Order: sequence, then structure tokens, then C-alpha cells
Amino acid sequence: MRYNYVMNLLTNITQIRGVGPATATKLADAGIHTVGDIVYFLPRKHEDFTAVSSITDLHPGKVTIEARCESVNTRLVRRGLRITTAVLADKSGKLNAVWFNQPYRAQQLAKGDKFYFSGQFEYSHGRYQLTNPSTEHSTNTPKQSQRLVPVYRAIRGLKSQLVRKILTELKPFISMLPETLPSQLVAQEKLMNRSEALLALHFPNTPEDITRGRERLAFEELFSLILASQLNRQDNAKLQGYSIPFKQPIVASFVKRLPFTLTDDQRRAAWEIIQDFAASIPMNRLLQGDVGSGKTVVASLAACQAASAGYQTALMAPTEILARQHANTLAALLEPCGVSVGLLTGSVTGIARQKVLDAIARGGVDVVVGTHALIQDTVQFAQLGFVIIDEQHRFGVAQRQKLLDKSGGHMPHLLAMTATPIPRSLALTVYGELDVSIIRQQPKGRQPIITDIITPTARPGLYQHIADELNQGGQAYVICNLIDDNPENDIKSVESTQRVLKQSTLGRYRIGCLHGKMKTANKEQIMQDFADHKYDILVSTTVVEVGVDIPNANIIMIEDAEHFGLAQLHQLRGRVGRGIRQSYCYLMLSSHNPPSQRLREISTSNDGFYLAEIDLKLRGPGEIYGKAQHGALNLRVANLADTTTIARAQKSVKNFISNGESLDDYPELAENVRYNQRRTILN
Ligand code: ADP
Ligand code: MG
Repeated sequence: MRYNYVMNLLTNITQIRGVGPATATKLADAGIHTVGDIVYFLPRKHEDFTAVSSITDLHPGKVTIEARCESVNTRLVRRGLRITTAVLADKSGKLNAVWFNQPYRAQQLAKGDKFYFSGQFEYSHGRYQLTNPSTEHSTNTPKQSQRLVPVYRAIRGLKSQLVRKILTELKPFISMLPETLPSQLVAQEKLMNRSEALLALHFPNTPEDITRGRERLAFEELFSLILASQLNRQDNAKLQGYSIPFKQPIVASFVKRLPFTLTDDQRRAAWEIIQDFAASIPMNRLLQGDVGSGKTVVASLAACQAASAGYQTALMAPTEILARQHANTLAALLEPCGVSVGLLTGSVTGIARQKVLDAIARGGVDVVVGTHALIQDTVQFAQLGFVIIDEQHRFGVAQRQKLLDKSGGHMPHLLAMTATPIPRSLALTVYGELDVSIIRQQPKGRQPIITDIITPTARPGLYQHIADELNQGGQAYVICNLIDDNPENDIKSVESTQRVLKQSTLGRYRIGCLHGKMKTANKEQIMQDFADHKYDILVSTTVVEVGVDIPNANIIMIEDAEHFGLAQLHQLRGRVGRGIRQSYCYLMLSSHNPPSQRLREISTSNDGFYLAEIDLKLRGPGEIYGKAQHGALNLRVANLADTTTIARAQKSVKNFISNGESLDDYPELAENVRYNQRRTILN
């Protein structure tokens, strides 16, 4: 109780009894600086010690025993594989335990203490064993009361029981934490209070505690996420936009010049944009469609409309190569209609740059294509009315402010284009402020990409097939997880793969290398050389993931495919299948284990929207669209596959807004919502 009047969530972690400078440093390394950070450091899972068996009673399956370690040793079996074996004993008998690549187990167990071991009891190589069990010091687990033990994400150099000790110390503080949500809402939705929920997860008594605690915290996360996006939507509606009238003849003449007919989905998307244009509220729309579904054509049609009303369009691409590609595509589509296209990237310099800048400022260029630098630096537009952002889902508040400044207090219409499909639940929550147009069908006559899962033994045969394709003038990507070799594991790197290929039957082809540590100019040069067919094979990390268009490349071979996410694999596959050649995607397995469901799904479907939904279901809560993929999305508990809770939160947000509630009355909720409002989510 001594903390109640001195401590709050922002109090430094060192103020907690038992946390000295050394511990604080280790916690800080894991991103835990304040009392709030540790209170919200939620368990990854809970270990159930309610059913401890004795060794002689074990049946194959997931088991927990309480035992002492009699002997333990670790050996290096081959590079990247260390095996630790131990003999465990309780009163009833003995049992072998095996860990793969967890050499620290030896030290941990050597002291003869008693532990709980939880793991898979199975028959392997002619004997029964306990495989990769987790361990829990049995003296730290209170015998009767608490047998559901929270397991926290490992913190380097800290024992997990120390985290539990700190939290136990904070227990009185946690139970005093005020409610963040409107109390009426908590009652209506029959949720646990905030403090109840936190206590339920850190100190559960029953499995139901855990479920209810998670439910409450997940609800709150979704509620603030949805509220943030709805507030952004309201803010957008207050901005002054440009009304661009629908001019049927302009659209007709653009469509007439196309060498193909638009698909129904393209038509619908174009119509949705044209309608948004006509309103005085600025458009804020996301255009989704797999690679090659024809988004650029739709965006060009819209740019044509904008130009006809005297407004300029800016298209921003993630890289210079893509900007150049877009500039060429747009020029071919738009210049016949009398709409001029200019390119402005970092490599346009000197007098040429000045000329482009002048033209943009005078209104002499209708459509300007560049990288994100277009809105960042000093480019002055005569009348910027339409902004297209390629391969980025959402524009942050800061970027939008820049746009406002550039167009004299008016907000240009925004269209974000992406080939990464967003599942419906994400569109409703994270991207709720955006309107969404979807191009789901591919233009007629596209050959589907053939996708196969390849086991290690089939590698030589595959190389032969690749050689045949290269001989016929095709090109291949080979994708690896790593740039350099890592002695800790067997995962293939760009470095080692290039070496291996050079010594294989593919060694006589021209092999290029690409990865994220190279300088930008260097990377772009290599991509350009591959596009110009100066290489037959390009060994690369996922840096080729973003929309590069090299129609002649028809093979993509993905090493250690099980280490990539589903969305990522689909994006990578989209690098091929863009030309007239039959294209292939090969998913290489690193072991003889059966392929994961992820790989089986992608090998049987070419539909990015279907795969995005599956991806969401296959991932666990929290890891969905996490930091690596989608910017800082602050989800600790909520599961974006949980459509029921999303619907509940959505309804509650609607009520909150329509009841005229103000965030000013909920300061802590407000802080969280504002954080979510400011997020910029990069693709
Ligand atoms: P995305 O930007 O969605 O990847 P693009 O707009 O670049 O797709 O279109 C990919 C290719 O398909 C381009 O060569 C384009 O000319 C062509 N294309 C677009 N729409 C159609 C259509 N309806 N029918 C046939 N080809 C099309
Ligand atoms: Mg594209």
C-alpha cells in the first residue's frame, strides 16, 4: 500500500521495490521503462500445472511432471544444431528429455533443484522422451493456490520468476488502477474492470479468469482503435476539398483509347472515385487489387478527370525504379488524351530538375510522378487536387498536414493503391477511416502462376527445369531470408545461395545479387540490370517484394519458404506472372517435415483476398500485422480474426459517438486513442 500516493503508470521502473539498476537495464532493453510498461507486459500464455503426473503414469501427448535433473549434457550435432539431453527423475521413475538449440538448459538444470517440466511426451528413435519441455522452478510455484502460471516473453538475462515477483509487488497498485472505458459500457458489455482484467491475467485462479481478462483488454484495444479511425474520418469530413465534376466525354475518350475493355471491378472502382471527386469532402480511399489487376489504369482515368477540371495529380511510388515505371505507363495512357506527365525523382538533377519544378509550379505539367519526397521538400504545385500513393496503405496525420500546407488549406483527394489485400476486419478497424474499392477479378486471359512445394531431394530436378526456362529466354528470382550466413542456424542467405548456385548446374548463367544493406543507387542499378536482362538469375532478400515489374521474369524460387508469412509469399509470387511466359513459383522446404498449412494454402490458391483472410486465421493474436509488417500497431491482446469482438467494439464506438460522449471525460482512453490516430501504417 505504500505506493498508492506516489506511483502512477509513468513512474520509472526503478521506483519499484526489488528493481535495482542492473535489472532496470535489462528491462529497458526489452522496452520496459515504466510501471505501466510492466503492468501491460502481458503473459504470452499460461502454463497449467493443475495436472502434474508422475513419470511412470505418463501417456503420449502434452504432459507436466515435477522432477529433478540427474544428468545433463549438450553436444553439437552439426553446424546450427545443438542437442541438450537430460535424465529427469521423480519418485516413480526416470525419463529422458531432449531440447534442440537451447544450450542454456544445461546450466539451468545442473543445480539439482526440482522443476516442473511441461512438454510433449512421445516415442522417437526407439524410446520415449520428453521433447523441448518448458521448465518452471517448482519452489516458485505455490503448491495449492496458483497452479496457472503466467509465462512472459523472455527477457535477456532475466529469470521469468523475477518478472512475476515484480508484478506481485505491484499487485496492490494494479488493483487500484482506475477504469479507462466509460463505466456504462463496461456494465453493458459485461466486461471485467480494467484492474480486474490485469489481475486476472497476471494472477489467474481459473482458466475462465484468463479468458475474461483477455476479452476485456482485447475489447478495449479494438474500441480505441476503431474510435481513433472514426475520429480521423470525422476530421477528414471537416476539411475543405475540391469538387471535381464528372465529365462523361472525358471518361469515354480515355476508355476508348485503351487496347482492352475494363473489367467490371475496374469500372466499379473508377465510378466510386469519380463520385468521391464530385463531393466537396476530400476523398480518402484505398484501392486494393492483386498485382496486375489494373489499378494503375483506374488511377489514370481519375487523373484524367482531375486534369480536365484544371487540377494537378501527384503520384508517389516507394522507389525510384517504380516511379520511373509509373511515369512511362502513365505517359502512354494519358498523353494521347492531352494530359502531360512529368517525372521528378532524386536522380533528376541540375537544369532538368529546375525545368520540371518550374513546370509544376506554373501548372505546365498535369501529372507529376515521384517518390515520397514529392510532398516532403520544396516542390510547389500550381493546383494540386489529387494525390495517388502507391503501395502504402494509409497516410499519417503528419503527411496529410504537409499536403494541406501545399494546397493552400484545401485537402487534395487521396487514393492509396495496394497489392496487399487487407482482410475485412482490418478494413473496419485499423483502416476504418478509409473507403475501400476492391478489384478482385484479373483481366481475362491471364495465365495463372503454377505454384509447387519442393522437398530438398527434388532440388536437382528443379535446377534442370530452371535451366530449361532460362535457355528459352526466361529469368528467375531466388529469394532468401538472410543477407549473410548466420552460424546459429541453417537458414540460407543471399551470400551462401549465390555460392551454391555458382557451383551447381546453374553456375553457367549470369547471377546477380540484391539485398537491403546495399546503397539505394546500387540496388536500383541491379534491378535495372535485371530488367535489362543483363542477369538470368537474381538472388535477393525480400527487397524485391514491392511492385517491381519485370515481365520477362517467370520463375521465383523461395528458399526456406516456411520462414515467410503468407501475405509475404503471395507478394513475392506477384513478381512473376506479368508477361506472356508461363510462370512458376517454387516454395523450397528446408527439411523433410511435411509442409505447413500456410504453404499448402498458397500452393493451391492464387487469390490474394482469400489468402489474406486465411493468414489472419492462422496467426495467433498479437502477432497479426505486427510491427514488422504494418508499422506500430499497438495490439497486445486483440485478435483481428475475432470478428465477434470487432463487431461489438464497432457498435460501442457508434454509440459512444452518437451519444455525443467526449474523450475529454476519459483522459487515459484519450491518450490511447490519440496514439492510434497518429499512426502511419506503411506497407
Ligand atoms: P496493377 O497496378 O494493379 O499492378 P496495372 O494497372 O499496372 O496493374 O495493369 C497490369 C497490366 O495489365 C498492364 O499492362 C495493363 O495495361 C494491363 N491491363 C489493365 N487492365 C486490363 C484489362 N481490363 N484487360 C487487359 N489488360 C489490362
Ligand atoms: Mg502496380
